[in-house]
Amino acid sequence: MLQIDALPAFNDNYIWLLQDTTQMRCAVVDPGDAAPVLAWLEQHPGWVLSDILITHHHFDHVDGVAQLHAHTNAKVWGPALETIPARQVALNDGERISVLGLEFQILLVPGHTLGHIAYYHLDPVAPLLFCGDTLFAAGCGRLFEGTPEQMHHSLGRLAALPGHTGVYCTHEYTLSNLRFAQAVEPNNPDIAARVAQVTQWRAAGRISLPSSIALELRTNPFLRVNETSVKEKADEWNSLNNDSPSAVFASLRSWKDQF
Ligand code: ZN
Ligand code: FE
Repeated sequence: MLQIDALPAFNDNYIWLLQDTTQMRCAVVDPGDAAPVLAWLEQHPGWVLSDILITHHHFDHVDGVAQLHAHTNAKVWGPALETIPARQVALNDGERISVLGLEFQILLVPGHTLGHIAYYHLDPVAPLLFCGDTLFAAGCGRLFEGTPEQMHHSLGRLAALPGHTGVYCTHEYTLSNLRFAQAVEPNNPDIAARVAQVTQWRAAGRISLPSSIALELRTNPFLRVNETSVKEKADEWNSLNNDSPSAVFASLRSWKDQF
């Protein structure tokens, strides 16, 4: 049995903890801080941290790796194209790996950083996606290293996954992303419903994740650049005729950067 929990870190990061409850083995995704993971292991005697999965090189995703590896000897997996502390296995696009007995496919998704990868578990019933800072709930990562074209292409790969894929991103940005989504699509009822739901969850101290690909397709403006109304808003923002989906994406991303 696989159980997935979020260990909060810093202001708004989540370290995803995957637990094989039968074997009492676990894995973490993007431990930017070792302390919450070590605290969990201390509170759960008998559990072994076997794997550490990294999506990209930013400090809030990797700063706990060296300490956790030294403490547990967990295997460290990370993107081949980036410098990751204590990395033992360098991962490239299309590779398949086994973690906790589950197969994950590696997707190279440049944009936020140039070597950013996502981990996709192809389970037919409950597919899972750990996508770091690429796809967020109702948003996407900033373009620190890549171009809008690269990010648009990367998001397109994720958007093509099955609708019921669980989306596990690294930050609790959902409400502020939804405020932007509403500015782009003031008449989208799915966005309005999601704002109401997430507002209620956050007020009750609940996290807004995981999301799903289907929900993102309905409410994430960065996945909706083919919608006429979204294009028109993008055109208004940069006073251009954004005549390709990636141009619409670029306009939305620059708008969001200043929103
Ligand atoms: Zn990042
Ligand atoms: Fe981050």
